[in-house]
Amino acid sequence: MKEIKEMAENLVEVRGLKKWFPVQKSFIETFLARRVDYVRAVDGIDFEIKRGEVFGLAGESGSGKTTTGRLILRLVEPTEGQITFDGMDILSLDSKAMHALRRRMQIIFQDPYASLNPRMKIGEGIGHGLEIHGIAKGKLKRQMVLEMMERVGLTPAAVLYDKYPHQLSGGQRQRAVIARALILHPDLVVADEPIAMADVSVKALLLELMLELKREFNLTYLYITHDLATAKYICNRIAIMYLGKIVELGSLYEVYSHPLHPYTEALLSAVPVPDPRAQRRKVLPKGEIPNPINPPSGCRFHPRCPYAKEVCGIEEPRLVEVGTDHLVACHLRV
Ligand code: SF4
Repeated sequence: MKEIKEMAENLVEVRGLKKWFPVQKSFIETFLARRVDYVRAVDGIDFEIKRGEVFGLAGESGSGKTTTGRLILRLVEPTEGQITFDGMDILSLDSKAMHALRRRMQIIFQDPYASLNPRMKIGEGIGHGLEIHGIAKGKLKRQMVLEMMERVGLTPAAVLYDKYPHQLSGGQRQRAVIARALILHPDLVVADEPIAMADVSVKALLLELMLELKREFNLTYLYITHDLATAKYICNRIAIMYLGKIVELGSLYEVYSHPLHPYTEALLSAVPVPDPRAQRRKVLPKGEIPNPINPPSGCRFHPRCPYAKEVCGIEEPRLVEVGTDHLVACHLRV
Protein backbone atom coordinates (compact mmCIF):
# COMPACT_ATOMS: atom_id res chain seq x y z
CA MET A 1 0.00 0.00 0.00
CA LYS A 2 1.31 3.42 -0.86
CA GLU A 3 1.68 5.86 2.01
CA ILE A 4 -1.37 8.07 2.46
CA LYS A 5 -0.29 11.63 3.15
CA GLU A 6 -1.11 15.17 2.19
CA MET A 7 -0.34 15.13 -1.54
CA ALA A 8 -0.38 17.80 -4.18
CA GLU A 9 -2.88 17.24 -6.98
CA ASN A 10 -0.18 17.24 -9.66
CA LEU A 11 2.28 14.36 -9.83
CA VAL A 12 4.26 15.95 -12.66
CA GLU A 13 4.70 19.59 -13.61
CA VAL A 14 6.53 20.70 -16.73
CA ARG A 15 7.49 24.34 -17.28
CA GLY A 16 9.16 25.93 -20.30
CA LEU A 17 10.60 22.58 -21.39
CA LYS A 18 12.87 22.58 -24.44
CA LYS A 19 15.01 19.98 -26.12
CA TRP A 20 17.07 21.05 -29.11
CA PHE A 21 19.26 18.34 -30.65
CA PRO A 22 22.34 19.59 -32.52
CA VAL A 23 22.37 18.42 -36.14
CA GLN A 24 25.36 16.20 -36.90
CA LYS A 25 27.45 17.70 -39.70
CA SER A 26 30.94 17.24 -41.01
CA PHE A 27 33.64 19.66 -39.86
CA ILE A 28 33.70 21.29 -43.31
CA GLU A 29 29.93 21.82 -43.35
CA THR A 30 29.99 23.35 -39.84
CA PHE A 31 32.96 25.55 -40.78
CA LEU A 32 31.28 26.81 -43.96
CA ALA A 33 27.90 27.38 -42.31
CA ARG A 34 29.61 29.02 -39.29
CA ARG A 35 26.78 27.94 -37.04
CA VAL A 36 25.30 24.83 -35.46
CA ASP A 37 21.78 23.87 -36.52
CA TYR A 38 19.35 22.33 -34.05
CA VAL A 39 16.31 20.09 -34.37
CA ARG A 40 13.81 21.78 -32.07
CA ALA A 41 12.16 18.56 -30.95
CA VAL A 42 10.46 20.15 -27.94
CA ASP A 43 10.30 23.91 -27.96
CA GLY A 44 8.86 25.43 -24.80
CA ILE A 45 5.96 23.44 -23.39
CA ASP A 46 4.03 23.59 -20.12
CA PHE A 47 1.61 21.04 -18.67
CA GLU A 48 0.75 19.08 -15.56
CA ILE A 49 -0.13 15.43 -15.02
CA LYS A 50 -2.59 14.96 -12.17
CA ARG A 51 -2.28 12.03 -9.80
CA GLY A 52 -4.27 9.03 -10.93
CA GLU A 53 -5.13 10.32 -14.39
CA VAL A 54 -4.25 9.15 -17.87
CA PHE A 55 -2.73 12.16 -19.60
CA GLY A 56 -2.42 11.79 -23.35
CA LEU A 57 0.23 13.38 -25.54
CA ALA A 58 -0.79 13.06 -29.18
CA GLY A 59 0.44 14.20 -32.56
CA GLU A 60 2.04 13.09 -35.79
CA SER A 61 5.50 11.60 -35.95
CA GLY A 62 8.00 14.42 -35.37
CA SER A 63 5.69 16.40 -33.07
CA GLY A 64 7.99 15.95 -30.04
CA LYS A 65 5.74 13.70 -27.95
CA THR A 66 8.24 10.83 -27.53
CA THR A 67 11.08 13.22 -26.65
CA THR A 68 8.81 14.80 -24.03
CA GLY A 69 8.22 11.38 -22.42
CA ARG A 70 11.96 10.70 -22.31
CA LEU A 71 12.66 14.15 -20.87
CA ILE A 72 10.25 13.51 -17.98
CA LEU A 73 12.14 10.30 -17.16
CA ARG A 74 15.48 12.08 -17.66
CA LEU A 75 16.49 9.56 -20.30
CA VAL A 76 17.53 12.67 -22.20
CA GLU A 77 18.57 15.96 -20.61
CA PRO A 78 16.60 19.08 -21.52
CA THR A 79 18.09 22.16 -23.13
CA GLU A 80 15.97 24.39 -20.90
CA GLY A 81 13.03 24.22 -18.53
CA GLN A 82 11.86 22.61 -15.33
CA ILE A 83 10.37 19.21 -14.48
CA THR A 84 8.86 18.53 -11.08
CA PHE A 85 7.92 15.02 -9.96
CA ASP A 86 5.98 14.68 -6.71
CA GLY A 87 7.25 18.11 -5.65
CA MET A 88 10.92 17.34 -6.48
CA ASP A 89 12.87 19.31 -9.05
CA ILE A 90 14.24 16.24 -10.81
CA LEU A 91 16.78 18.16 -12.88
CA SER A 92 18.65 19.05 -9.70
CA LEU A 93 18.98 15.42 -8.55
CA ASP A 94 22.36 13.69 -8.71
CA SER A 95 22.69 10.26 -10.35
CA LYS A 96 22.20 8.37 -7.04
CA ALA A 97 18.99 10.21 -6.20
CA MET A 98 17.81 9.83 -9.78
CA HIS A 99 18.47 6.08 -9.67
CA ALA A 100 16.29 5.78 -6.55
CA LEU A 101 13.56 7.85 -8.18
CA ARG A 102 13.57 5.72 -11.34
CA ARG A 103 11.77 2.95 -9.42
CA ARG A 104 8.80 5.31 -9.23
CA MET A 105 8.87 6.26 -12.94
CA GLN A 106 8.72 3.45 -15.46
CA ILE A 107 8.35 3.28 -19.22
CA ILE A 108 6.58 0.94 -21.60
CA PHE A 109 8.25 1.17 -25.02
CA GLN A 110 6.54 0.88 -28.37
CA ASP A 111 8.57 -2.06 -29.61
CA PRO A 112 8.51 -4.86 -27.02
CA TYR A 113 10.94 -6.99 -29.03
CA ALA A 114 13.60 -4.29 -29.11
CA SER A 115 13.10 -3.40 -25.45
CA LEU A 116 13.55 -6.95 -24.12
CA ASN A 117 17.05 -8.38 -23.86
CA PRO A 118 17.07 -11.26 -26.41
CA ARG A 119 19.58 -13.22 -24.31
CA MET A 120 17.62 -12.93 -21.07
CA LYS A 121 14.79 -15.29 -20.15
CA ILE A 122 11.45 -13.53 -19.89
CA GLY A 123 11.15 -14.05 -16.13
CA GLU A 124 14.68 -12.79 -15.53
CA GLY A 125 14.00 -9.73 -17.69
CA ILE A 126 10.82 -8.88 -15.79
CA GLY A 127 12.56 -9.29 -12.43
CA HIS A 128 15.79 -7.50 -13.38
CA GLY A 129 14.63 -4.19 -11.83
CA LEU A 130 13.92 -5.94 -8.50
CA GLU A 131 17.62 -6.81 -8.25
CA ILE A 132 18.87 -3.47 -9.54
CA HIS A 133 16.85 -1.62 -6.90
CA GLY A 134 17.75 -4.11 -4.15
CA ILE A 135 14.13 -5.17 -3.62
CA ALA A 136 14.37 -8.94 -4.12
CA LYS A 137 16.52 -11.70 -5.53
CA GLY A 138 16.57 -15.49 -5.67
CA LYS A 139 13.37 -17.30 -4.72
CA LEU A 140 11.56 -14.14 -3.60
CA LYS A 141 12.26 -12.46 -6.93
CA ARG A 142 11.02 -15.51 -8.82
CA GLN A 143 7.85 -15.60 -6.73
CA MET A 144 7.17 -11.88 -7.30
CA VAL A 145 7.77 -12.25 -11.04
CA LEU A 146 5.45 -15.25 -11.33
CA GLU A 147 2.70 -13.35 -9.50
CA MET A 148 3.08 -10.35 -11.80
CA MET A 149 3.13 -12.57 -14.88
CA GLU A 150 -0.14 -14.14 -13.76
CA ARG A 151 -1.59 -10.70 -13.15
CA VAL A 152 -0.85 -9.43 -16.66
CA GLY A 153 -2.11 -12.63 -18.28
CA LEU A 154 1.30 -14.05 -19.18
CA THR A 155 0.32 -17.63 -18.52
CA PRO A 156 1.20 -20.37 -17.79
CA ALA A 157 3.70 -18.23 -15.89
CA ALA A 158 5.95 -21.10 -14.74
CA VAL A 159 6.41 -22.21 -18.36
CA LEU A 160 6.84 -18.77 -19.92
CA TYR A 161 9.31 -17.67 -17.21
CA ASP A 162 12.11 -19.64 -18.88
CA LYS A 163 11.30 -18.70 -22.48
CA TYR A 164 13.27 -16.18 -24.50
CA PRO A 165 11.60 -13.13 -26.11
CA HIS A 166 11.70 -14.64 -29.62
CA GLN A 167 9.66 -17.63 -28.35
CA LEU A 168 6.71 -15.41 -27.36
CA SER A 169 3.98 -13.86 -29.52
CA GLY A 170 3.88 -10.08 -29.98
CA GLY A 171 1.00 -9.76 -27.51
CA GLN A 172 2.85 -11.86 -24.91
CA ARG A 173 5.98 -9.74 -25.32
CA GLN A 174 3.98 -6.57 -24.75
CA ARG A 175 2.49 -8.11 -21.59
CA ALA A 176 6.06 -8.91 -20.46
CA VAL A 177 7.06 -5.27 -20.95
CA ILE A 178 4.02 -4.14 -18.93
CA ALA A 179 4.92 -6.64 -16.18
CA ARG A 180 8.52 -5.39 -16.11
CA ALA A 181 7.31 -1.81 -15.64
CA LEU A 182 4.76 -2.61 -12.95
CA ILE A 183 6.74 -5.03 -10.82
CA LEU A 184 8.50 -2.06 -9.22
CA HIS A 185 5.13 -0.54 -8.22
CA PRO A 186 5.84 2.83 -9.84
CA ASP A 187 3.71 5.96 -9.44
CA LEU A 188 4.09 7.09 -13.05
CA VAL A 189 4.16 4.96 -16.18
CA VAL A 190 5.15 6.59 -19.45
CA ALA A 191 3.48 4.43 -22.08
CA ASP A 192 4.99 5.30 -25.46
CA GLU A 193 2.72 3.96 -28.21
CA PRO A 194 2.29 0.82 -26.06
CA ILE A 195 -0.05 -0.98 -28.42
CA ALA A 196 1.12 0.39 -31.77
CA MET A 197 2.89 -2.85 -32.74
CA ALA A 198 0.26 -5.26 -31.38
CA ASP A 199 -2.18 -7.14 -33.62
CA VAL A 200 -5.56 -5.47 -34.00
CA SER A 201 -7.13 -8.41 -32.17
CA VAL A 202 -5.12 -7.78 -28.98
CA LYS A 203 -5.00 -3.97 -28.94
CA ALA A 204 -8.29 -3.61 -27.07
CA LEU A 205 -7.31 -6.35 -24.59
CA LEU A 206 -4.02 -4.60 -23.82
CA LEU A 207 -5.75 -1.25 -23.30
CA GLU A 208 -8.30 -2.89 -21.00
CA LEU A 209 -5.45 -4.53 -19.09
CA MET A 210 -3.66 -1.20 -18.71
CA LEU A 211 -6.81 0.39 -17.29
CA GLU A 212 -7.37 -2.48 -14.86
CA LEU A 213 -3.77 -2.30 -13.66
CA LYS A 214 -4.02 1.46 -13.28
CA ARG A 215 -6.98 1.05 -10.91
CA GLU A 216 -5.38 -1.84 -9.03
CA PHE A 217 -1.93 -0.28 -8.57
CA ASN A 218 -3.10 3.34 -8.26
CA LEU A 219 -1.02 4.41 -11.27
CA THR A 220 -0.74 7.61 -13.25
CA TYR A 221 -0.10 7.24 -16.99
CA LEU A 222 1.46 9.49 -19.57
CA TYR A 223 0.01 7.91 -22.72
CA ILE A 224 1.93 8.88 -25.86
CA THR A 225 0.23 8.16 -29.17
CA HIS A 226 -0.38 9.22 -32.75
CA ASP A 227 -3.76 7.46 -32.60
CA LEU A 228 -6.62 9.59 -31.31
CA ALA A 229 -9.01 6.62 -31.44
CA THR A 230 -7.14 4.70 -28.71
CA ALA A 231 -6.43 7.90 -26.78
CA LYS A 232 -10.19 8.44 -26.58
CA TYR A 233 -10.58 5.05 -24.97
CA ILE A 234 -7.97 5.50 -22.25
CA CYS A 235 -7.21 9.19 -21.53
CA ASN A 236 -8.78 11.62 -19.06
CA ARG A 237 -7.03 14.71 -20.45
CA ILE A 238 -5.01 15.19 -23.60
CA ALA A 239 -2.48 17.58 -25.12
CA ILE A 240 -2.05 17.84 -28.88
CA MET A 241 1.51 18.54 -30.04
CA TYR A 242 2.67 19.97 -33.33
CA LEU A 243 6.33 20.62 -34.23
CA GLY A 244 7.53 20.76 -30.62
CA LYS A 245 4.65 22.88 -29.29
CA ILE A 246 1.40 22.10 -27.48
CA VAL A 247 -1.38 23.56 -29.61
CA GLU A 248 -4.40 22.36 -27.62
CA LEU A 249 -4.86 20.85 -24.17
CA GLY A 250 -7.94 19.93 -22.19
CA SER A 251 -10.27 17.31 -20.83
CA LEU A 252 -11.04 14.48 -23.19
CA TYR A 253 -14.62 15.65 -23.52
CA GLU A 254 -13.67 19.24 -24.38
CA VAL A 255 -10.98 18.36 -26.92
CA TYR A 256 -12.99 15.64 -28.68
CA SER A 257 -16.40 17.36 -28.58
CA HIS A 258 -15.27 20.94 -29.18
CA PRO A 259 -11.85 20.87 -30.87
CA LEU A 260 -10.67 24.45 -31.26
CA HIS A 261 -7.35 24.14 -33.04
CA PRO A 262 -7.47 23.41 -36.79
CA TYR A 263 -4.77 20.75 -36.35
CA THR A 264 -6.83 18.93 -33.68
CA GLU A 265 -9.84 19.20 -35.95
CA ALA A 266 -7.84 17.61 -38.78
CA LEU A 267 -6.54 14.77 -36.60
CA LEU A 268 -10.02 14.04 -35.26
CA SER A 269 -11.56 14.05 -38.71
CA ALA A 270 -9.30 11.11 -39.60
CA VAL A 271 -10.52 8.98 -36.65
CA PRO A 272 -12.89 6.24 -37.87
CA VAL A 273 -16.41 6.42 -36.45
CA PRO A 274 -18.17 3.20 -35.34
CA ASP A 275 -21.39 4.02 -37.22
CA PRO A 276 -20.77 3.52 -40.98
CA ARG A 277 -23.78 5.77 -41.79
CA ALA A 278 -22.29 8.68 -39.84
CA GLN A 279 -20.57 11.17 -42.12
CA ARG A 280 -17.61 13.12 -40.88
CA ARG A 281 -16.18 16.00 -42.86
CA LYS A 282 -12.51 15.22 -43.44
CA VAL A 283 -10.28 18.22 -42.88
CA LEU A 284 -6.82 17.19 -43.96
CA PRO A 285 -3.91 19.55 -43.40
CA LYS A 286 -2.11 20.61 -46.58
CA GLY A 287 1.34 19.16 -47.29
CA GLU A 288 3.91 17.57 -45.03
CA ILE A 289 4.99 18.43 -41.50
CA PRO A 290 7.70 21.14 -41.94
CA ASN A 291 11.37 20.76 -41.06
CA PRO A 292 11.86 21.14 -37.27
CA ILE A 293 15.36 22.60 -37.88
CA ASN A 294 13.80 25.67 -39.38
CA PRO A 295 10.16 25.77 -38.28
CA PRO A 296 7.75 28.25 -39.90
CA SER A 297 7.52 31.73 -38.40
CA GLY A 298 4.47 32.77 -36.39
CA CYS A 299 2.09 29.85 -35.96
CA ARG A 300 4.01 26.73 -36.95
CA PHE A 301 0.88 25.26 -38.48
CA HIS A 302 0.22 28.22 -40.79
CA PRO A 303 1.63 26.71 -44.05
CA ARG A 304 -0.83 23.81 -43.67
CA CYS A 305 -3.79 25.58 -42.07
CA PRO A 306 -6.94 26.12 -44.17
CA TYR A 307 -7.92 29.13 -41.99
CA ALA A 308 -4.55 30.93 -41.90
CA LYS A 309 -4.68 34.73 -42.04
CA GLU A 310 -1.93 37.33 -42.29
CA VAL A 311 -1.12 37.52 -38.59
CA CYS A 312 -0.60 33.74 -38.44
CA GLY A 313 2.67 33.91 -40.37
CA ILE A 314 4.00 36.74 -38.22
CA GLU A 315 2.93 36.25 -34.62
CA GLU A 316 3.16 33.06 -32.62
CA PRO A 317 -0.14 32.35 -30.82
CA ARG A 318 0.17 31.67 -27.08
CA LEU A 319 -1.51 28.71 -25.39
CA VAL A 320 -4.37 30.39 -23.50
CA GLU A 321 -7.32 29.17 -21.46
CA VAL A 322 -10.54 29.48 -23.41
CA GLY A 323 -12.86 27.44 -21.18
CA THR A 324 -12.89 25.15 -18.19
CA ASP A 325 -9.86 22.89 -18.53
CA HIS A 326 -9.42 23.82 -22.18
CA LEU A 327 -6.45 25.70 -23.65
CA VAL A 328 -5.63 26.47 -27.26
CA ALA A 329 -2.91 28.29 -29.23
CA CYS A 330 -4.67 29.81 -32.25
CA HIS A 331 -5.34 33.38 -33.40
CA LEU A 332 -8.86 32.38 -34.45
CA ARG A 333 -9.84 31.61 -30.87
CA VAL A 334 -8.64 34.59 -28.88
FE1 SF4 B 1 -4.40 28.34 -38.36
FE2 SF4 B 1 -3.71 30.83 -37.71
FE3 SF4 B 1 -4.83 29.24 -35.88
FE4 SF4 B 1 -2.35 28.79 -36.72
S1 SF4 B 1 -3.07 30.58 -35.60
S2 SF4 B 1 -3.94 27.31 -36.45
S3 SF4 B 1 -2.49 29.35 -38.86
S4 SF4 B 1 -5.77 30.02 -37.78
